[in-house]
Amino acid sequence: MKLDTRAIRYLTGDDWRVLTAVEQGSKNHEVVPTPLIQQIAGLRGGSGVHKCISSLAKVGLIAKVKNARYDGYRLTYGGLDYLALNAHRKSNVVFSLGNQIGVGKESDIYITASPDGRQQVLKLHRLGRISFRTVKANRDYLRKRSTGSWMYLSRLAAQKEHAFMRVLYREGFSVPEPLAWSRHTVVMEFIDSFPLRMIDSIPDPGKLYAELMDMIVQLARRGLIHGDFNEFNILIKEETVGDKIILKPVLIDFPQTVSTNHANAQYYFDRDVACIKRYWERRFKYVSDEPGPFFGDALKGADSERRLDVEVEASGFSKKMGKDLERFIEATGGDQGESSTKADDGEHADEQGEDEEDEGDEDDGAGEDDEGLEEDSQVEDAQLADDMHD
Ligand code: ADP
Ligand code: MG
Repeated sequence: MKLDTRAIRYLTGDDWRVLTAVEQGSKNHEVVPTPLIQQIAGLRGGSGVHKCISSLAKVGLIAKVKNARYDGYRLTYGGLDYLALNAHRKSNVVFSLGNQIGVGKESDIYITASPDGRQQVLKLHRLGRISFRTVKANRDYLRKRSTGSWMYLSRLAAQKEHAFMRVLYREGFSVPEPLAWSRHTVVMEFIDSFPLRMIDSIPDPGKLYAELMDMIVQLARRGLIHGDFNEFNILIKEETVGDKIILKPVLIDFPQTVSTNHANAQYYFDRDVACIKRYWERRFKYVSDEPGPFFGDALKGADSERRLDVEVEASGFSKKMGKDLERFIEATGGDQGESSTKADDGEHADEQGEDEEDEGDEDDGAGEDDEGLEEDSQVEDAQLADDMHD
């Protein structure tokens, strides 16, 4: 789904209040009744609220839903995007929005700039854009949940990703610096790099192989297994050290990370290891003489005093949240091999339009999945900066 910021400059203060009210109302209501929107927004005079509602619906930030009992509105992904962007703008994290660089199965990746002109990455989690339709059992489970589950799960994914990146970055692991999270989005350092998957040959495959295996082991020693340690989630950055250029791997994409206490920890650990082994053999014709690394050995060197899984849980990403997210990720099978970058071969580019939520009877107005916008949405960076600062 394209992030279309063109309407952002036209929103009035009251529009923002109403949009925020719909978001708040959706915590307890699948469809937020109009009187409740009015009440939460705290705006006097009915017609003002109705005007805001209709202009928000017109640009697809909220959508009208006809429920059996009453009519009301729900927040769309577009609406949630605007709220998150506005939060990042207000806290001076994001100044302007640039091009989309990645389209994952369940995320969109954009370049943004900070107020001082630094390049950053904005990752918008979009859980459920494909999976709700394809995984029936999962969808039924999600339907029984309270409010718009895509929103809840996408928030969880962003919160979890940010929480893990924060501790990993602090502990010196090679991950992008996390800068902020809001709702379903994370802002992080931009890594000027290529995904491993786009690299055909490297001077010393054995060296990089050993570094990656060491990373898997070091993570486990601190209580963590990445769970999707593959050529899409390892970025390769060139660094100049003296007169030499070295290749530095940077690990990304953490929503599926699990604790080494997880019931299937060994399975996930072995899968991460096998993934690199297989890739090295296939792509670089390299097979290590050394067996392993093995989960049991990694745990022997574990630092039980400084477990990052325990720290993250204590910091607010609770067991229950972890379980909710895990249930979804397990049902949909992670993103092994599902991401692509704009610079990549684009084989998944057709997924962009598949963002509807299959939610039954509703009137989308201008619609969040407005394919008509796709063609002309290549708005220049400068224009987007304008959009965000009017
Ligand atoms: P997904 O969950 O959709 O797989 P990822 O976090 O793996 O999302 O990001 C998808 C792609 O976006 C990556 O393969 C990479 O090309 C690009 N990307 C993500 N984060 C960064 C970053 N911090 N710096 C540079 N590129 C990034
Ligand atoms: Mg990925």
